[in-house]
Amino acid sequence: MTVNLLDFDLEGLAGFCEQLGEKRFRAVQLFRWIHQKGASRFEEMTDLAKSLREKLPSVCTVSGLPVLSRQDSADGTIKWLFDVGDGNAVETVFIPEDDRGTLCVSSQAGCAVGCRFCSTGHQGFSRNLTTGEILAQLWYAEHYLRRHLGTADRVITNVVMMGMGEPLQNYGALVPALRVMLDDHGYGLSRRRVTVSTSGVVPMIDRLAKDCPVALAVSLHATNDALRDVLVPLNRKYPIAELLDACLRYLPAAPRDFITFEYCMLDGVNDQPEHARELLALLRQHAGRGVPAKVNLIPFNPFPDSGLKCSPRPVVLRFGQILNEGGIVTTVRKTRGDDIDAACGQLAGDVLDRTNAARRLAQRRVDSVHPIRVVPLARHSRNEEDPA
Ligand code: SAH
Ligand code: SF4
Repeated sequence: MTVNLLDFDLEGLAGFCEQLGEKRFRAVQLFRWIHQKGASRFEEMTDLAKSLREKLPSVCTVSGLPVLSRQDSADGTIKWLFDVGDGNAVETVFIPEDDRGTLCVSSQAGCAVGCRFCSTGHQGFSRNLTTGEILAQLWYAEHYLRRHLGTADRVITNVVMMGMGEPLQNYGALVPALRVMLDDHGYGLSRRRVTVSTSGVVPMIDRLAKDCPVALAVSLHATNDALRDVLVPLNRKYPIAELLDACLRYLPAAPRDFITFEYCMLDGVNDQPEHARELLALLRQHAGRGVPAKVNLIPFNPFPDSGLKCSPRPVVLRFGQILNEGGIVTTVRKTRGDDIDAACGQLAGDVLDRTNAARRLAQRRVDSVHPIRVVPLARHSRNEEDPA
């Protein structure tokens, strides 16, 4: 197989160039052509030595992913479906806002964590994406948007690893991809503007702090282990207290002085005022000092066969109010791209070959689907006074 240059961070590309007998500054030139200019054909890289331009096509390529479809939402959100082969596809979503352009990037085809409320999780796991496949989403989207908007300026200002898959279960491919996002010769994004969202792979949170600290979002969704074990099965391996300890260890290296906690609002499951009070107690009292935190409430996006409903708006607002009044800054995520199913948890990406996904889904139903119950709250919050 020929080498795909999208698989390399700058160090990797420098190593590859060295093997070809080329100096490091050639790698920098090549890297800038690829990521800053969106070039994929070596003949257009005019400041490379002619001999190198002629040599490269025989040893490497710059290969993006085939685009299966693009959907444009009325609110400006764009969703692409990329073919990753073998009947698998992944989705990437661009969300424009007044002061930023955010790209939501996938890290795996499917996901092995199997969260109860997540459509990707219901699909099961197909495979990890390579570094090149993670970066191809950003590379394609950025240069598509520049062409489309007729600008040479950067369009994507923020990346969130919140598409399909659990990024920290694809750590080896993730880290070089993050480095390219941050590299001044690549996309030049600041660490604060690149967010890894995780369901809580504790050892990898520690490694990320050392290898490539970026903003961290933790998908909490429940305030006690009994409920989180059901909603986010990874909790059985890394329970809440261990996860929050990992957050505390991450903070000194983090580009922000808080961790974002995502909390998907599920009607009658985790959305009651007692849950809000329990969450408040958890975040304020963990390890005797609390975890500096912001909370992002995500209205649940229903999908077929989930068996779950989104909490009514007043319930979401009441939940947020309890947290805000308790001193934890809490926001409710705006739903964007509703008309094109681009919201969190709706990224299914299986249109290329539904048979695989359908088979996996059927298997999972047999294995795991059981009705959700509201699990009793842990004792420490029961006696909390209602601040309202
Ligand atoms: N695997 C990572 C990142 C991808 S999921 C993680 O779990 O954090 C990105 C976010 O979307 C997570 O917070 C996830 O819990 C949330 N999500 C998944 N399905 C959802 C749904 N149906 N409705 C609302 N949010 C959902
Ligand atoms: Fe995987 Fe995240 Fe979906 Fe859970 S919420 S199944 S970790 S993608």
